[in-house]
Amino acid sequence: MEALIVIDYTVDFVNGKLPVGEPALLIEDRIAELTEAHVRRGDLVVMAVDLHEENDPDHPESKLFPPHNIRGTEGRELFGKLREVYDRNRDHILWMDKTRYSSFHGTPLEDELRSRGIDTLHLVGVCTDICVLHTAVDAYNRGFRMVIHPSAVASFNAAGHEWALQHFRGSLGADVRD
Ligand code: ZN
Repeated sequence: MEALIVIDYTVDFVNGKLPVGEPALLIEDRIAELTEAHVRRGDLVVMAVDLHEENDPDHPESKLFPPHNIRGTEGRELFGKLREVYDRNRDHILWMDKTRYSSFHGTPLEDELRSRGIDTLHLVGVCTDICVLHTAVDAYNRGFRMVIHPSAVASFNAAGHEWALQHFRGSLGADVRD
């Protein structure tokens, strides 16, 4: 069984408070297409979405990044065509708030996957070298197989993006392909 995990493809991360910018816009169509395809196949589809509270000085990201994906704000909405796909398929997509880079940290993701007998994860979203990377490391350590779609991951850091793709392939054994 397979699942698609769509990571942090929100307004704030595409062109809002903590924007990836152009590289994120370039994957909009592909993320929407893959999401639609996995829903049609009956795979588990998860929207793993960063959630932060306003004025949270104890959160480790507060020292590193401007405030982003604050609860109840437009910045935390899915971006563009992905939002349309989500709205059309809400009943078949699992929304999962997360408060750290990894989609596994402090979330029920592993239980949701295990209870469905899922052993292979397709990862898409942003940023390739931050939240996708940390999710991939946790998936590797939990024994999941991975497919990472280079046409559907992006980062503001081009060198970090390339490094992460190599790391997925060479150190996490992921199938990196479109
Ligand atoms: Zn964050």
